[in-house]
Amino acid sequence: MRRLQERILRDGRVLSSTVLKVDSFLNHQIDPELMKEMGETFAHRFREKGITKVVTLESSGIAPAAMTALELGVPAVFARKRKSLTLADDLYSAEVYSYTKQERNQISISRDFLSSGDQVLLIDDFLANGQAVLGLSEIVKQADATLAGVGIVIEKGFQDGGRMLREKGIHIESLAIIDSLSDQKIRFQKEDVT
Ligand code: 5GP
Repeated sequence: MRRLQERILRDGRVLSSTVLKVDSFLNHQIDPELMKEMGETFAHRFREKGITKVVTLESSGIAPAAMTALELGVPAVFARKRKSLTLADDLYSAEVYSYTKQERNQISISRDFLSSGDQVLLIDDFLANGQAVLGLSEIVKQADATLAGVGIVIEKGFQDGGRMLREKGIHIESLAIIDSLSDQKIRFQKEDVT
């Protein structure tokens, strides 16, 4: 998505050769116009999949997930992160290792908001090693729902998550794919210009 790429180049800060900071439009302050266009783009790419629910992880996935759900005319559900392992019978839960915080979180969704028969579109802000998507897909499996696809705002193509998940046959659409963050420079994948 060209507008997203331009925004990443303009406002993204390279924190290291593996971490990009985009606090000014995605992870702290939110640009609603850009979010709206992201939602339209995801909805367009997954329109034929019969999505019944958009699922994400708090907190940075919520804005793009809500915009996508609005476009598709379905609810958005966000998994909650909890550090404790308190068990609750009315929850689907999975463990996720957080890439940026380097800690394990339990993520959970109430059984009230996901069920068998749901066609689920997962949305997240970044794709690095794929742990967040794996945790969310574990929850989809527990609910006996179907994982119809995954929409990622920024995929770091130089990390393993995208390849690992595509090898599992998961349909992933990323709005921007970064090839490298080395030398303080953001480089996109060459074919990634839509
Ligand atoms: P994964 O689970 O794929 O290893 O990492 C994805 C999660 O880690 C995303 O939900 C996102 O919150 C966070 N993340 C991974 N890489 C980055 C990054 O370069 N910048 C930011 N802001 N978040 C990241």
